[in-house]
Amino acid sequence: MHVRILLQITADDSTVGVTEEVTAFEKPVERPEDLGLSLAEGKALTAAVQGQIVKAQVASWADRQRCCEACGTRRRSKGSSPVVFRTLYGDVPLASPRLHRCPCQSTDGPATLLPLRTLIPGQIAPERLYLEARWVSLVPYAAAAGLLADVLPIASGANRTTVREHALRVAERAEAELGDERPCFIDGCPAEWEALPIPEGRIVAALDGGYVRNWDDRKSNFELIVGRSVPEDRAPRYLGLVHGYDQKPKRRLFEVLKSQGLQANQDVTFLTDGGEEVRSLTELITPEAEHVLDWFHITMRLTVLSQYARGVVHHDDAEGARLLASLDSIKWLLWHGNQYRAGEEIAFFEGGVDDLEVSYPNLGKFKRAAHEFAVYIASNAGSLINYGERFRSGERISSCLAESTVNAVISKRFAKRQQMQWTKRGAHLLLQTRTRTLDGTLRPLFERWYPGLANDNGNGAAQAAAA
Ligand SMILES: [Zn+2]
Repeated sequence: MHVRILLQITADDSTVGVTEEVTAFEKPVERPEDLGLSLAEGKALTAAVQGQIVKAQVASWADRQRCCEACGTRRRSKGSSPVVFRTLYGDVPLASPRLHRCPCQSTDGPATLLPLRTLIPGQIAPERLYLEARWVSLVPYAAAAGLLADVLPIASGANRTTVREHALRVAERAEAELGDERPCFIDGCPAEWEALPIPEGRIVAALDGGYVRNWDDRKSNFELIVGRSVPEDRAPRYLGLVHGYDQKPKRRLFEVLKSQGLQANQDVTFLTDGGEEVRSLTELITPEAEHVLDWFHITMRLTVLSQYARGVVHHDDAEGARLLASLDSIKWLLWHGNQYRAGEEIAFFEGGVDDLEVSYPNLGKFKRAAHEFAVYIASNAGSLINYGERFRSGERISSCLAESTVNAVISKRFAKRQQMQWTKRGAHLLLQTRTRTLDGTLRPLFERWYPGLANDNGNGAAQAAAA
């Protein structure tokens, strides 16, 4: 048994004109795979429907452009040139009409005009641009192109070069909107800040660095700085930039906080690894800022030190055990914000490591790490807090409570392990669409640029895609 399906478009006004056959299928009904539309049929169908709709819309639009805005006279046609409009449901070939200038217009301007250029300047549908930018932010360029071509009837342009170029164009547009860089973003005076309404709760912003492989010099790496800003009652946001390449790092951070409702009398905690670059990025952003050494980075260093101490146990178990106990005590003192005694214990520990006389092969590295840890804690003395107390009061003291930001933003897409190489420009721009994809602000950005995207005729498909 076969079912014949004929699909027609019938216009309900005069714009499209006549009833037209879109496509016809012969469907057998014998096996599970016979039911409904196949992938290929679905693509053919949506492409056919899309072509008809776009052509009808453009025809009716072009017809309205035909008359002069000033005097209403119908302009003379000077033929047309072919253009391809890239949509989600296929590439639609269109004839772009060329019209003579109306005689009533000044002769200074161009002799002919191409009205379609104003309707589709980039010759790509915004929603296709959105999906491309979204998918290349999540998976490598070639995989994103393949994925889109798998499910959508797009043949041309579904390759890594084109989707990359489109996504970077999106990022560049977003970059162009970013305000000027300033050395200081603190405005006004304390009296004005006090008069502000009671702010929402504290914002905690964790910033960290990660490395990716350099395309220009394959043996070297360059640094990305990523951040995650978490207000008490609002959605978290991500931030990303290429260190040394980005000309507006402070403005970028400031805008993220501002989008989360930051006001001058609001408490903001910056959690960092204590590194110079990241630290200076957070200076002079907002008056009530507190700089805290991320507990995550303290424990990472302590973990490395205890691994060395455990190595010492195999050569001198009494000495090794003493050092392990000392590390426990350092961790406990730092956790409770007892800086003075922590400093003493660290000096005792460093001295103990220095005095070690065992044949432990990593002894040199251990001594270096112990010394570096002492310097690290001493130079970040102003950024140590009572972590235990903060933790008990439910505040974030570490960026790794859920997943480290570096892992979420960098590792899963920029993957050094997969030998991916990046130009600074490419990495920086991709970070802009990736951070927005991860925190859900890419779709709202597109809806601001293209307000019509929010019109879904009640289908909510856009919201589902963005979720
Ligand atoms: Zn005219």
